Amino acid sequence: MASATYTTRALVLRKTKLGESDLIVTLLAEDGSQLRAVAKGARKPASPFAARLELYSVVDLLCSEGRNLDIVKEARIVASHERLRRDLEHAACAAPIAELLDRMTQAGLETPRLFALTEAALTRLDAAEPSQAPALCAACLLKALAFCGLRPSLSTCVGCGAEVALGRPDELVFVSYREGGIVCPSCRASVEAVGISAGTVAWCRALLGSTFDEVVALKVDPSASFAVLRFCQEWIREHVGAPLKSLTFLFTSGLF
Ligand SMILES: [Zn+2]
Repeated sequence: MASATYTTRALVLRKTKLGESDLIVTLLAEDGSQLRAVAKGARKPASPFAARLELYSVVDLLCSEGRNLDIVKEARIVASHERLRRDLEHAACAAPIAELLDRMTQAGLETPRLFALTEAALTRLDAAEPSQAPALCAACLLKALAFCGLRPSLSTCVGCGAEVALGRPDELVFVSYREGGIVCPSCRASVEAVGISAGTVAWCRALLGSTFDEVVALKVDPSASFAVLRFCQEWIREHVGAPLKSLTFLFTSGLF
């Protein structure tokens, strides 16, 4: 009996070698679930899959259901996002997005809007000046965390619910990664919290509340974007598990 086939649009998050010439492709499917499928012979130079299942590209797939992993039968490129593989700065800022989605998504678990968000972020990143790449990366990480139910509380105190006003950008605001966000002065004694600059919290709020076009228009300085990315890394360490290797690489890369 022939196995069932299906079509889906998906975004390539990761490629893993399998055997002599096959690939396991981890993808974000259009419904926000994770899809892992085998592309047979994909590592042979003459394979029709060779240039069609590239990291960060959006593809239309025809797959057949397998006993363990599904099998890719056909792949057609919808958006290549070629610059995200070619240019070092762009690649370094696309990798944390793919790594976070690989970690947070699951087979059979739909997350509405996550695919559209990621596709929009990678398309904007592909067209962006290198200096704006860290801000786009940070905005996408924060939004993806929010879509997956891990939105930090950046306006009200996680201890008492009071609105927390931000002072000058260089003043400290206290944050409890474990409790889920910022902590007001009255609750600081009872909640374990660390100080980060009010400017960083303000940038986190701005990036969460902006479209990707608006993020580019904000012209965020890379150092401010890096401060937000460090906030993201601590947040991910607390709520997703281990820190992102690709963010650790970005911090030590000397890029930007
Ligand atoms: Zn409080």
